[in-house]
Amino acid sequence: MVRLYHFCCTHSYQAIAQTWQVVPVSMLVSNIMDRIPDHPLPPLFDLAWFTDMEVPDRQALGLTSRLIRCDRTERRLVVLTPWKCQPWRAWSMENLERRQQHIARELLSGDPTRWWVSPIPVPVAPPSDERPLRPSRSGLAHHSEHLRR
Ligand SMILES: [Zn+2]
Repeated sequence: MVRLYHFCCTHSYQAIAQTWQVVPVSMLVSNIMDRIPDHPLPPLFDLAWFTDMEVPDRQALGLTSRLIRCDRTERRLVVLTPWKCQPWRAWSMENLERRQQHIARELLSGDPTRWWVSPIPVPVAPPSDERPLRPSRSGLAHHSEHLRR
């Protein structure tokens, strides 16, 4: 079974640590797509994203901090149910129309062969050699901060 990871900044980590689940962004911010009306965007926010890379390669993961200033490779979480995740390319071919697949390719940079997704929340844990951060009460607020910038 493939080992999967979720990389994120410390803010997002604190939000995740409240439930120890990685949740699709659209489940946290329900109106996120209302801000981009009438565009045939692929439902990228409806997915939780993971990778099989144990050591993060920013370029391959598309976490280049060009849009978001935080370092989204600061923290690593280990997926507890990797068998519930699907490789991004298989998922997109099965679930997206050709046009949306094309748009997704244009929007996402990096190496799509290393990305895995899930449309439902996925349980995660910190690596066993790492002490979990105590979740802060403001973790969730910080998490949605990203989306407002
Ligand atoms: Zn952050």
